[in-house]
Amino acid sequence: MSETLPRDVMQRYQECLITGEPTTEKDQKVIADLLFQWARERGAIDFAHWFFPLRGGGGAVGGMLGAYKQDTLMDLDFGSKFTTKPMKACLPAERLFQGETDGSSFPNGGLRVTHSAAAFTTWDRSSPPFVMNKTLYIPCAFITHFGKCIDEKTPLLRSMDAVKTHGLRLLKATGLGKDAQTIHSFLGWEQEFFVVKAEHFKARPDLVNTGRTLFGKLPTRHQQGDLNYFQPMPGNVQLLLDRAQAAMIKVGCPMAVKHNEVAPGQHEMSPVFRTANVSCDSNVLFMEVMNREAAKLGLQVLFHEKPFAGINGSGKHANWSIGTDTGLNFFYPGKNEEGVKLFVTGIACLTYGLAQYNELVRCTVASAGNDHRLGAQEAPPAIISLYPGQGFEKYVEEIVKGADLLGYKAEKKKQPTGASQPMAVEANVEDRNRTAPFPFCGNRFEFRAVGSSQNCCLPIMVCNAIMAAGMSHMADLIEGGLSHRDAVAKIFKENKHVIFTGNGYSEEWKTEAAKRGLPNLNTTPKALATWASDKNKALFEKMKIYTQEETCARQEVMYENYITSLSIEVQTMIQMVETAILPACVKDLKRTEILPNKKYAPPRKAAYEAIADELEKLKVTYDKRPHGALDKEATYLCDTVKPRMVALRQAVDKAETLMEKGSYPFPTYEALLYSH
Ligand code: ADP
Ligand code: MG
Repeated sequence: MSETLPRDVMQRYQECLITGEPTTEKDQKVIADLLFQWARERGAIDFAHWFFPLRGGGGAVGGMLGAYKQDTLMDLDFGSKFTTKPMKACLPAERLFQGETDGSSFPNGGLRVTHSAAAFTTWDRSSPPFVMNKTLYIPCAFITHFGKCIDEKTPLLRSMDAVKTHGLRLLKATGLGKDAQTIHSFLGWEQEFFVVKAEHFKARPDLVNTGRTLFGKLPTRHQQGDLNYFQPMPGNVQLLLDRAQAAMIKVGCPMAVKHNEVAPGQHEMSPVFRTANVSCDSNVLFMEVMNREAAKLGLQVLFHEKPFAGINGSGKHANWSIGTDTGLNFFYPGKNEEGVKLFVTGIACLTYGLAQYNELVRCTVASAGNDHRLGAQEAPPAIISLYPGQGFEKYVEEIVKGADLLGYKAEKKKQPTGASQPMAVEANVEDRNRTAPFPFCGNRFEFRAVGSSQNCCLPIMVCNAIMAAGMSHMADLIEGGLSHRDAVAKIFKENKHVIFTGNGYSEEWKTEAAKRGLPNLNTTPKALATWASDKNKALFEKMKIYTQEETCARQEVMYENYITSLSIEVQTMIQMVETAILPACVKDLKRTEILPNKKYAPPRKAAYEAIADELEKLKVTYDKRPHGALDKEATYLCDTVKPRMVALRQAVDKAETLMEKGSYPFPTYEALLYSH
């Protein structure tokens, strides 16, 4: 844009991004005309408002992808005589900035219905449009006729405004960051995923319908010894990742890292971090690109949080930070006094937010898929705590007792290797803690509990919201007469129970957390029940992120997402057992019954009969589910139906160990994990 727009238009455009003022109609037209030319030069024939409908939680197969409808880059030429020149190729300015669509066919928690369905898309000016697949993508917010958000993006953008408003107020109160004009939140995601052969994927109704395997026994060699971690990738997976990297950089999103993950078949990629909204966009785009490139190679990418039982699931660590336009970072223990003070201030605000709105943070990562991860020994626990580092934890005790704001010594240390050729390394100020949901990583916090299939908007929106709450609270204290130091000390004193630097996977932590009054909401229904509390509604209202109605709508959609996911899983299980597993058992039994040695048939018969028994139990239990109240239905599915699903799965997996090779009716784990 800076190369093609007239200088004054560019300057005004950039100023609007800081002030939030609307772009004038005249400038809109200039921008639309140039964007049109630019897109045409890159081969675009269509444009599309690209947005992220409210989905609620994670999505199984492609559920969290963006939505768009392609419109042609051509319009009636109202400026000419209809008979001679009726059409012209262009992007009318009003269509760049606004689109209209049906809001009632997307989940909306009651905010839209078919007889009052209007909804609008509008360009998020701070996220650049780009051309991909002959289409000019225009990243958008999506709101109803009455301005209510029914998407993932709008609340995130509102939360970025909240961080700016309350952050600037705090800077003013503390006298830090004097030249800052605005405050941004930043995100760098680490996307984990599995890659399997497309033909295997298609042959498994569970993968196709639910994104995860509902049956399947582990191969003898799976992830023991962590042999897969950072190993060279299989050739065609490397090719896929290289192609995705190339496609992403073409649209202005440089990828930073790619590597093999712990489980066989599992990999990870992450980009260079950006402002949070742009990074959320690029994450969704990355998933779209991966699906498309994988299909060309006969592969399928699995973004589900737990595609395979017994080996690691996939997360999406959300690396998040808050900083000014002048380059100050609230989470970087800076090199000068201002930097150190800002860091201590930033962590105090985050500590406040996490302690006060603990359940809210937990809710942002609650989904049927993520329930398989959180609390298992490979992902953070469902207890939300803050890890600022052990050195910092000690400092918190000191500041509560009266220490100075500059008392935290953020010096990196030289760590010798013990050998003469590799030189000493510069170790970070604080160690890393991979068992914590919110560990400090040197210049950012890494929210590790986010699920791999999720859109990052919701978790980052809530991180911003609770941070803004902390900023606002501290500004209140200082404006009310406390010194900066005393305000920080008071906040730590009242909220430090959320700081934990030990082993988050240990049983002792569960007991200790309970003592400290930290919730352990270990299932989605338990978490969701806390979402629309008065306290949370008040926070969202104060931060101008959600009205009360929007908070409730979001809860409804999250419940619906959970119920739909589990219902599809149950129905898929029943169908797979009835139409494929049981028939295979019958055939296998007939074969073993004619063997001369009579000892083979009885254990098989017992194992196969157990499947039929468990199937009936699951059906009966599922049929008794309550209808009407979403919370009751979700809780029933979680507490009563899920154990039956587990039991049926165990019976089927046991049968798989007995069945003749080749007669199992679906591609096995061995084939899925090792054949590419
Ligand atoms: P890890 O060491 O946890 O495996 P990676 O190097 O894989 O981390 O990814 C770290 C991610 O964090 C990258 O996307 C990186 O750009 C991002 N990141 C780095 N600094 C910041 C920051 N200040 N704010 C937000 N994200 C950041
Ligand atoms: Mg990380």
